[in-house]
Amino acid sequence: MLVHRVYLCYNEAMFDLPLAVQCFIAVVFGCCMGSFLCVCVERLPQGLSVISPGSRCLHCGKAIPWYLNIPIISWLFLRGKSWCCKKSIPITYFLSELIVGLMAGLLYMHSPKLFIPYFMLFCLLWVAFFIDLKIMIIPDEISLLGIVFGVLLSCFFPELQGKREPFYGLIRSVEVACLSMGGLFLFISIVEFFLKKEAMGLGDVKLLGCIGAFLGGEACLFSLFFGAILGTVCVLFGYVFQKFCLKRRVKLRNKRIPFGPFLALSTLLYLFFPQLMLKL
Ligand SMILES: [Zn+2]
Repeated sequence: MLVHRVYLCYNEAMFDLPLAVQCFIAVVFGCCMGSFLCVCVERLPQGLSVISPGSRCLHCGKAIPWYLNIPIISWLFLRGKSWCCKKSIPITYFLSELIVGLMAGLLYMHSPKLFIPYFMLFCLLWVAFFIDLKIMIIPDEISLLGIVFGVLLSCFFPELQGKREPFYGLIRSVEVACLSMGGLFLFISIVEFFLKKEAMGLGDVKLLGCIGAFLGGEACLFSLFFGAILGTVCVLFGYVFQKFCLKRRVKLRNKRIPFGPFLALSTLLYLFFPQLMLKL
């Protein structure tokens, strides 16, 4: 299989290099992905393609030449202003490239063998996190495509699902994705039946399926429970903060809170500290 051969070549070429160089390559790759993820967060909520047209100025729409589109360096070189109309480029672009780059380096150091699936899942969660915060929707391009990627990568990296054979990795991934989505859907249907209002969006259900397809059942359970705890703590903290620190009160009771960001954060925690699952 061509993809498998490419992967073997990547393994041979990458793991022969000194560790510092391997990490540096991961960071550079991460910075480039950070730039692409900015485009995804910007365009997906508007239903636009993330591939074509290429990068454009946010203000006047002029195409940006490749040499002025180098992650981190271009933003610093242009001092946060666009080259064409000299209007400011938000610092979030620079920060996104920097943070995604650093996270890629950390993930590589943490588990070099599973870097590809871990970093791909991280990218999907990054986009889901910001779009869910922005418009309270997790696009299908992220969750459903994520499930497909998760299943395929579980075939190449069956250890993601605690298996040795590619075929069993793939089957287990499909099983976990279906069971987690089915289980959560059933649970929220029952809750909604009794509460008579929407408890959770279907986007969260599909995102959980994506997490399961990548990391297996244990990670799914951890993300769900720890995400719920994290969400509850944040809501309580917000409630206390507005009660004691804000003069103008915001009605929190009927405010909808996106669950996707909490799912994403708890999954990230699981990626770095899977042993936490044993303590829960
Ligand atoms: Zn411009």
